[in-house]
Amino acid sequence: MEITITQRNRLIKKELVNKYGSYNVSVIGGRGTATGWVEVHIYIEKPDDCCCLENTPYCSQCMKKLNVTRDEANKLIYAIPNIEFYTYYSDDGYNSETDCLLVQVSIKK
Ligand SMILES: [Zn+2]
Repeated sequence: MEITITQRNRLIKKELVNKYGSYNVSVIGGRGTATGWVEVHIYIEKPDDCCCLENTPYCSQCMKKLNVTRDEANKLIYAIPNIEFYTYYSDDGYNSETDCLLVQVSIKK
């Protein structure tokens, strides 16, 4: 069964909203400019043991939480039945086929 881009993006959003809350998820893409790309943004709370200093990059606890969340979100997305993305061949020397899906996670200030 084939699903449209709009339906697919809705499914992704629904899945992620269940997990992270409706104010913390945005799913864009598929039409217009960067054709075929889907961009997912997720905003999460700081970890309890965060030790970020002002005006510095994320601390290691934050980095860890960002990575874990990104992996988790990818798993949730790929677990959706019939989910499909456009692919591109990356120029990494192996010509690996990569999905046009970009998951970005940020820590809320
Ligand atoms: Zn931190």
